[in-house]
Amino acid sequence: MEMSKVLERVAEEAAQLRGAGMVMDYIPALAEVDPDHFGIALAELDGSVLGVGDWETPFSVQSISKVFTLALVLAGSDESFWQRVGREPSGSAFNSLVQLEHERGIPRNPFINAGALAVTDELISMVGDASGDLLAFLREESGNPDLEVDENVAASEAAHADRNLALAHFMASYGTLRNPVATVLDQYVRQCSIAMSCRDLALAALFLADRGFRRDGSALLSCRQAKRINAIMLTCGTYDAAGEFAYRVGVPGKSGVGGGILSVIPGRCAVAVWSPGLDKRGNSVVGMAALDHFTTLTGWSVF
Ligand code: GLU
Repeated sequence: MEMSKVLERVAEEAAQLRGAGMVMDYIPALAEVDPDHFGIALAELDGSVLGVGDWETPFSVQSISKVFTLALVLAGSDESFWQRVGREPSGSAFNSLVQLEHERGIPRNPFINAGALAVTDELISMVGDASGDLLAFLREESGNPDLEVDENVAASEAAHADRNLALAHFMASYGTLRNPVATVLDQYVRQCSIAMSCRDLALAALFLADRGFRRDGSALLSCRQAKRINAIMLTCGTYDAAGEFAYRVGVPGKSGVGGGILSVIPGRCAVAVWSPGLDKRGNSVVGMAALDHFTTLTGWSVF
């Protein structure tokens, strides 16, 4: 079946669930988003991209940004980074404090909030303006020079950041962070508040489908590093629902509480989907169902 037909079929199925789930409300600016949005985009290794629905409408990428900050950190550092952050699934909520105490300030993986704060801390040490560096990278890879931090979302998240502040202070007490908590949190909030469309995200993630090569042909990551990020996405990318995501979708994926899910099909393409209604674990209900349908129709699950 032609890929445009596959995406249309996926969108038709998704339409039946439209509006399912709850738009997240702990960041007030995101609670205002219309829950009926749905978009899906697929970018292939040659840079061609197609989509259906609201695939060109920007939304808050939130935790999907964590994939890209991890890639930038791994591209510029050595394996010693893994002494500060683990790489096992957490089985806990994305913003849980409990595990962090048991494990003496070392976050379980780079995609839960504590781990992502540690990654951002590392990127600050490497480049200073971590969110600016990330934005430049995303503009380049998506081919969209207009990408920006949504200042309204950033201000709203910064004003409701008690949980993330607690995580950061807790890690600081164990010596996991190198930069001041306020700096790390500011940069983390800004990276999460970047607005991108499904189109932008699918294009920006192609290096993960293409063995670490950027769209200009240069290598951001080694083949081994790209493989590893994909593995961490599969095992840790959807919070405490990573098992469910592997069961239903079966490819590396990373969700965000803005309702986006970015998935990578190594050697083929990147697919981004967006629908704001979330399940209890913070993953897009319609997005997950759409990707389930997509990998079933194409047979592109890795399983
Ligand atoms: N900025 C959000 C937070 O820190 C990201 C959560 C998410 O997308 O999972 O709570």
